[in-house]
Amino acid sequence: MMIPSVLPTYSRAPLNFVKGEGSWLIEADGRRFLDMGSGIAVTLLGHANPILVKALTGQAEALWHVSNLYEIPGQKELADRLVDATFADTVFFTNSGTEAAELAIKMARKYWHDKGQPERIDIVTFEGCFHGRSTAAIAASGAEKMVKGFGPVLPGFTHVPFGDHDALRAAVTDQTAAVLVEPVMGEGGILPLPDQCLKGLRDLCDETGALLILDEVQCGMGRTGKLFAHEWAGISPDIMMVAKGIGGGFPLGAVLATEEAAAGMVVGTHGSTYGGNPLATAVGNAVMKVVADEDFLGEVNRKAGALRQKLEGLLAEHPDTFESVRGAGLMLGIRCKPPVAEVVQAAYDQNLIVVPAADNVIRLLPALTITDEDIAEAVRRLDQTARALKS
Ligand SMILES: *Cc1c(COP(=O)(O)O)cnc(C)c1O
Repeated sequence: MMIPSVLPTYSRAPLNFVKGEGSWLIEADGRRFLDMGSGIAVTLLGHANPILVKALTGQAEALWHVSNLYEIPGQKELADRLVDATFADTVFFTNSGTEAAELAIKMARKYWHDKGQPERIDIVTFEGCFHGRSTAAIAASGAEKMVKGFGPVLPGFTHVPFGDHDALRAAVTDQTAAVLVEPVMGEGGILPLPDQCLKGLRDLCDETGALLILDEVQCGMGRTGKLFAHEWAGISPDIMMVAKGIGGGFPLGAVLATEEAAAGMVVGTHGSTYGGNPLATAVGNAVMKVVADEDFLGEVNRKAGALRQKLEGLLAEHPDTFESVRGAGLMLGIRCKPPVAEVVQAAYDQNLIVVPAADNVIRLLPALTITDEDIAEAVRRLDQTARALKS
């Protein structure tokens, strides 16, 4: 047998972490790595956060799972929290971002179906976007490397260049069900959509009736310094996808929607065996209690400002390694001059975890609870990374 026992779809670094503490990961051989990746923006409140450990183990001793055939009080509590804190009137829980994308797309199509316009199925997205790996989500991306070989690609997706207003305006027609965008493109290379673009997009959707779906799977849950990134632009979507940080490392996702956008999703139209189960929502509630707090978000903004300023200094110091810094809050990208894979490897050699993205960018997605000392240490290690790359 030549195929590994684990289906070889990943290219893994030979790192074997056995323990986590706050912003630190401990390798089996004892090395301590500073984690500026958070498992791709997931461990929002750091590793082994006592608040989350308590929420999870407390629930584990009481009840793990019942299915959505029955009431789940913790699920209702988390939905209430999300409704209180956002534009949304209603929430569906999933186990991942991909599943949230599936429902968001289904919901938008069902909305127009029920309005008597079943031909209105098109979803407009930006090139370079990422919404997951299901057949609908890869169609939403449209990227050759994701869809090739998996055809027929689900029809009804139109892709326009990132931030191209004119192309967007031309693409949104009376066949358009929704526009689906990430307020800060994550996998695509940490590209924030300027506030003006988001405002213009909201106006365009209002004019045409198209629903606005925001994918805040990576940029949501306080990462940009607001609970959700779109709040910076002073607009709200009709439907929003959330995942990654909301479970702090426990698989949990959600689709938030207005009452109007969700009107077609009646009994029997969608479901999930695990979605919003007692374990997941116990953790989700604990995460929300911490993050949906002005003081906490104020600290995120303060730390983000400090990190950003230090990174600008680093850029000035190492212009032949680091080209530019971009992003929002504690979701930052550094465009590199050497191939990004080399920079990531050189960072590993300094016991520093960063995550690659498209456009030759390394991502810094630290725990929102990162300390000032660890921020300074991360910048020190990036400095050493650049020095090692030059030597
Ligand atoms: C990670 C991600 C997804 C997919 O989430 P999974 O939990 O991996 O299914 C979707 N959208 C965005 C913006 C993401 O960053």
